[in-house]
Amino acid sequence: MRLILLGAPGAGKGTVAKMLTKIDGSVQISTGDILRGAVQAGTELGKQAEEYMKRGDLVPDELIMGIMEKRLQEPDCAKGFLLDGFPRTIPQAEALKELLARLDIKLDMVVNIDVPREVILDRLTTRRTCSNPECQAIYNVKSNPPKQEGVCDKCGSPVIQRDDETEEAINHRLETYNEKTAPLIGFYEKEGLLKTITGTSSEVVVKEITAALGL
Ligand code: AMP
Repeated sequence: MRLILLGAPGAGKGTVAKMLTKIDGSVQISTGDILRGAVQAGTELGKQAEEYMKRGDLVPDELIMGIMEKRLQEPDCAKGFLLDGFPRTIPQAEALKELLARLDIKLDMVVNIDVPREVILDRLTTRRTCSNPECQAIYNVKSNPPKQEGVCDKCGSPVIQRDDETEEAINHRLETYNEKTAPLIGFYEKEGLLKTITGTSSEVVVKEITAALGL
């Protein structure tokens, strides 16, 4: 399947994407994961992105398109992909449209995961993430803590609170979402690709997606 997952930070895009990869071998492509990996590895990309990310600002479109142009042409994308956290601005959506046309790739659907703001705020402040860039498993101190406090069940690395998950950065990320990313809902509605799913359970969101795709 070839999907874009839209939704505010904390809407569950990453969790839903991980569940969908198990269905047909499509790969999850999270620009946030790629950028956090680059920051930890201290690469040129990481150095350029770090300050924007810490503040909860978006990284410039050119940097993101450079990453995605390469990533979408890697062989593992042939089975399908789940775009998680990309595109995030209208210029990114337009550049993606042009890139996909050039690569002769058609999207199946754009899923807008719509979750109430109170749920989002609660999730983001209680979310914890594995610090291993290869893993980045997601936990929640209330609903899904690691078996041993602070240690990833999957790889044993420390589980941490992300730098951009302080209250100030979270508020800024949500404002940025409303201003820059929410307009993509109208963009993809016009393209005839949008499906909005309202709900807080990732299992239910996944079921609705697979039903809509006839899987
Ligand atoms: P995420 O893990 O998707 O919440 O992304 C974390 C941070 O990475 C965001 O707050 C942005 O600073 C940056 N980022 C991720 N994806 C994008 C994107 N498509 N465009 C611009 N910045 C991005």
